[in-house]
Amino acid sequence: MSILDRLLRRNAGMSCQQVEAVMQQYLDNELDPAEVPKVLAHLEACKDCGLEAELYTRIQTSLRAHQEAPSADSMDRIRALAQELALNGPPEDAEPADA
Ligand SMILES: [Zn+2]
Repeated sequence: MSILDRLLRRNAGMSCQQVEAVMQQYLDNELDPAEVPKVLAHLEACKDCGLEAELYTRIQTSLRAHQEAPSADSMDRIRALAQELALNGPPEDAEPADA
């Protein structure tokens, strides 16, 4: 293999260490767009890094889902409840809440 070949190979692909170093930035969409294709190429070619990226992505996705979904949902419920109270008044004859 010629030196030129080696240089080209090195430029074409990233090593596992390089990919690991930028993985977090890549997942946060903070990675230099010029670097993204190289990372993607490596993730497709390298099973280990591909699986790692997939795992990270799943964790991030579920974290985001947990952060956003319930709060939006409960805000809607609170608003609906507040509206109902405003329209109909308290349910039954308002008895003291404490037994
Ligand atoms: Zn790798």
